[in-house]
Amino acid sequence: MKKRNSVLIAGIVSILILVSVQVYIVIGIWNQKNEMFNLRYRLFSQDAVSSMSRRLNTDGFDTARNIINWYSVQSIKDLAQIKDDSAIILKKREIFESVSKILIKEEDLSAYLSNYFERAGIDKNFNFKLIINRFELINQETFIPIYTSEEFASRRAPRVTGVVGPPPNNRRPTSEILVKGDRSETDYYRLDFECYIDFSEKQKTIMKETSSSLGLSTLSIILVGIMFMITYRNLAEEKRLSNLKTDFINNMTHELKTPLSTITVAGKTLQMPQIRTNEEKILETAKLIGKQSLHLNQLINMILEISMWERTQFQLDKKTVDIEDLLNEVVFSFKSGGGNAATISEKYNFNGRKLDLDVVYFTTLINNLLSNAVKYSDKVPVIEIEGNATEENVSISISDNGIGIGKNDQKHIFDKFYRASTGNIHKFKGLGLGLYYVKKIAEAHGGDVSVSSKPGKGSTFTLTLPNVHEQV
Ligand code: ADP
Repeated sequence: MKKRNSVLIAGIVSILILVSVQVYIVIGIWNQKNEMFNLRYRLFSQDAVSSMSRRLNTDGFDTARNIINWYSVQSIKDLAQIKDDSAIILKKREIFESVSKILIKEEDLSAYLSNYFERAGIDKNFNFKLIINRFELINQETFIPIYTSEEFASRRAPRVTGVVGPPPNNRRPTSEILVKGDRSETDYYRLDFECYIDFSEKQKTIMKETSSSLGLSTLSIILVGIMFMITYRNLAEEKRLSNLKTDFINNMTHELKTPLSTITVAGKTLQMPQIRTNEEKILETAKLIGKQSLHLNQLINMILEISMWERTQFQLDKKTVDIEDLLNEVVFSFKSGGGNAATISEKYNFNGRKLDLDVVYFTTLINNLLSNAVKYSDKVPVIEIEGNATEENVSISISDNGIGIGKNDQKHIFDKFYRASTGNIHKFKGLGLGLYYVKKIAEAHGGDVSVSSKPGKGSTFTLTLPNVHEQV
């Protein structure tokens, strides 16, 4: 149990390590693809910018710059009129917002980029974003600061004072691709800004590109998981079988020892002088030896036969029999033998159905079920045998009022050497072979056997045999 638990823990830990490594690798691939995507578009946009200045002799902001220059002249005059500090701040904000609007409205770069990307056959659905880093008015060589972004200010100590705060849409983007940075300066203003592009489809594109590695790594994790489960189950099954074998050897020793010791004692008894003169006693002891030898022989034959089945196919010696007659005979001889302590009722009607059966094996099958019904009982056994014949098959069920079988044990009772784990192993003697034998015989006839049971209430074993007799 300890070993199994440590195997389970080691397996789960290894799978977790594998999953983390795979996640790490996939994140690495994702970042790499993201970088490559950005790099590709950065290069394309730089090409586009230089192609624009080569072919059109502009960087796309000439009109905007002219308008801003004219607007700056106006703004310098307006600002000079205002004396109140808070009114000055308000005016500066208005100036900054107007400059942003002019820049966005009058630029020609985004349209050129879009065209350029389309011609290059790459994605042209991007968002174009302009970020102003600094704007200052210049009045006769004196700078009037209007706006400086935090980042720009931190790059240039000392901090510029008297500027307006950034509006929300002027934040530097994290994921976008920088196309161009620019500084323009005239006699009336100084402006620093950056242009970025961002692709809404970017995540999807990268997802598509990483899907094969993602799929493969998920598949490999699933496969490793399945293989682990199979190995673990095999290990558990092997452990179970080895336990069963150990139990079997213990039980077999126990079973074989009982008749053997009886025979030994009987042998010794026969040697006693006072017994040798008593003919009746001699006969009785001889009978006992005979009975125990027979039992011993049966046990050994059963074990031999089962080990033979493992190696060769079942050899059936089938005869056509009237199933009802045969069952009557088997039940009758059981009643007069081991079953005399039980109340057995028969409620079957097979309508004269004839089947091709191996009579010896069939007898053993029914005997095993009946003797289990008597053996696994803690009160006076009451057994009901029911049966009927349909078009396709014949079914026989044997119900008892015995100790019953738990759900878990029901799954295994037909396994070789299996004995239910109710702590009754020595109270009820057995080798765990009876039901295995029953199942094998039923299957060899093309039929099957099943169980339904409730612990403390009793069990019902149902045998079904196919209708294999050719009616003449
Ligand atoms: P054995 O009787 O030699 O142990 P079997 O293969 O005949 O082996 O039965 C397997 C197990 O199934 C038994 O150990 C017993 O626990 C359970 N079993 C079989 N028949 C019955 C029954 N009629 N009622 C309760 N338990 C049963």
